[in-house]
Amino acid sequence: MEEVARALAASKSAVAFTGAGVSAESGVPTFRGAGGLWERYRPEELATPEAFERDPDLVWRWYKWRQELIYAADPNPAHLALAELERLGVLKAVITQNVDGLHRKAGSRRVVELHGNIWRVRCTSCGREFPVEKPVGEIPPRCPICGGLLRPAVVWFGEPLPRGAWEEALSLASSADFMLVVGTSGAVYPAAHIPRIAKRNGAVIAVVDPGETALDDIADFKIRGKAAEILPRLVAEVRRCLT
Ligand code: NAD
Ligand code: ZN
Repeated sequence: MEEVARALAASKSAVAFTGAGVSAESGVPTFRGAGGLWERYRPEELATPEAFERDPDLVWRWYKWRQELIYAADPNPAHLALAELERLGVLKAVITQNVDGLHRKAGSRRVVELHGNIWRVRCTSCGREFPVEKPVGEIPPRCPICGGLLRPAVVWFGEPLPRGAWEEALSLASSADFMLVVGTSGAVYPAAHIPRIAKRNGAVIAVVDPGETALDDIADFKIRGKAAEILPRLVAEVRRCLT
């Protein structure tokens, strides 16, 4: 921990890369730890364009359930710690695979959302995008302009990432000298290229996760534990290094 904090405090262009695990302690389940009702489905059966084409009602019921969980969720100490690191001038940005918007809610200012945001919808007919403030009511929701079927404006398996977000992530990763990887299995591509690109460009990689991840092979440091316990301790250590 001390060593990671020292390297982080000394870095010039540190970036965080986060996944579902960072929100687990906010009560938003990861895909693998999927809750109750939805346990009998694999995410690949719900979060794909094919699934939506086959059964938009089913996919929307799942997203409505997730929207309700996220609506009730607050940022946890891990999100707050990352926002604090940005305020301290230590962290340049958070690149996230999460769609829950909790980094921004925690006060992080530069957030790159690789997989979109669950609080936006897009019309499958006219292509317009709209923000939504609350979980959807009637299922499936319809476009207020053309009446077309709306879909969540998130990236499903097999779909390309939003170009702007991807390019920003690439540029951050190529110039990062430290990458803090938190709560991601590292198994979802192309997102998982980001820490690998950072590593190739010389960044020190620190992985925070209670389990094994597919990025452990590039980790210079591995801190095993829950994000909401580890990150606040890390911030305290970083503060000590800065004074
Ligand atoms: P994943 O479910 O594949 O992996 C989650 C990782 O988090 C695992 O390595 C697990 O060990 C770790 N983890 C579990 N509890 C943790 C904790 N308390 N602290 C730290 N780590 C913890 O998630 P992924 O790698 O993000 O990839 C799956 C895809 O699922 C992503 O594309 C993402 O968009 C999507 N997703 C997003 C959310 C969200 O927005 N909150 C939730 C579920 C899935
Ligand atoms: Zn429309």
